Amino acid sequence: MLTLLDLYQQATSLQQTPLVTSSQDEQPQLFAPQDEQRLSDELQRLITELDFAGAIGASLSDIRRQLLSGLKPTLLASTCLRVIELIIEGTRAERTASRAFLTNLNERLALIHSSVTQSLDEGRLLQQTRTESHQALQHQIQAIDHSLTQYQHVDSLKAAISEHLVTLNTLLHERSESASRENSLLNYISKMESKIRLITEETAEYKKRLTIQKHKLFLDSLTQVHNRAALDERLEQEYRRWVRYRTPLCLAIIDIDHFKQINDNYGHMAGDKALKVVAKALQRTLRDTDFIARFGGEEFVVLLPNINPEKFQKPLETLRQTIKHIPFRFRDAKVAITISIGATLFREGDTPSEVFERADKALYHAKHTGRDQVMLA
Ligand code: GH3
Ligand code: MG
Ligand code: MG
Repeated sequence: MLTLLDLYQQATSLQQTPLVTSSQDEQPQLFAPQDEQRLSDELQRLITELDFAGAIGASLSDIRRQLLSGLKPTLLASTCLRVIELIIEGTRAERTASRAFLTNLNERLALIHSSVTQSLDEGRLLQQTRTESHQALQHQIQAIDHSLTQYQHVDSLKAAISEHLVTLNTLLHERSESASRENSLLNYISKMESKIRLITEETAEYKKRLTIQKHKLFLDSLTQVHNRAALDERLEQEYRRWVRYRTPLCLAIIDIDHFKQINDNYGHMAGDKALKVVAKALQRTLRDTDFIARFGGEEFVVLLPNINPEKFQKPLETLRQTIKHIPFRFRDAKVAITISIGATLFREGDTPSEVFERADKALYHAKHTGRDQVMLA
């Protein structure tokens, strides 16, 4: 968001830049074309880092398409603003959805909690009733036993026993009532158990979605390789490992040659497709322990840990050859895409930004001495 605000500021200040003309007969121009192109590229790249579903995602793709096919410079600042608005709207929608889910979950849990408390009370009461009824039954049996020894006459015995039978009957009736209450309590608890299971399932599903979302935060949405955020994290981690263990570490910057021509000749959709294919091929060619991220529009950064310092050019050469030999076809024309690579090993006392600068210089060198080559610093 800060980058976007910065872009917006740059775009507005470009609009306020006084006329710059290089010669008399040229039409006065309000904007320096390179600046405007740079801003447009940067904005376009930022949009690919966002990942919003639905209408907002569609609007952002639409803006990205306009930027790639050349947006009127006067519209750059307002486009920045529109992107900011869309991000706010998208974030708000996501937050509202999460909040609704959590509120609903909370309400259901509160209900279940109160039901559990009620059921527990009911259960305890039933247990107490059962103990009391058991004692009362025992008491009646003892009383009958007592009557048998106390009464000599059949008539008085009969009368006493019949009284006990009435009480026993009442007790048995109470017990059967209490058993049926226990039954319905068990039914109720089993229903609650299903509800809890449902909530557990829903929460697990939600957690899974969050994990996927978190994973997506580190993926470039166009090429599905890692993005800049992931690169920052990994570079820091590999750098710390290198400081500690000193196993050779190589950083390479890869830039597609004359990529603009692909867009200009065959349209940016073809350009997008080519980017995806190149990214996939690069990733497939690397080892599992290597790392690749899309760094800019048509630039990638590769980290090769634990590399043989004598032979670190070899895997990079393989990357170059692999891309060169992909049989691209645009509008029935066979097109070869090549890449230039600038690479360097981490050296004593290096910081990541120094390493980056060195690799970038090597890349610059590769570009200015013919492209389609690996240059080591
Ligand atoms: P060079 O060999 O010097 O690298 O030439 P180039 O044309 O590749 O270099 P330049 O940096 O001038 O142009 C890069 C182009 O890549 C400009 C931009 O429109 C395009 N681009 C950047 N990101 C994307 C993208 O996501 N999709 C498409 N289709 N094009 C992109
Ligand atoms: Mg470039
Ligand atoms: Mg390029």
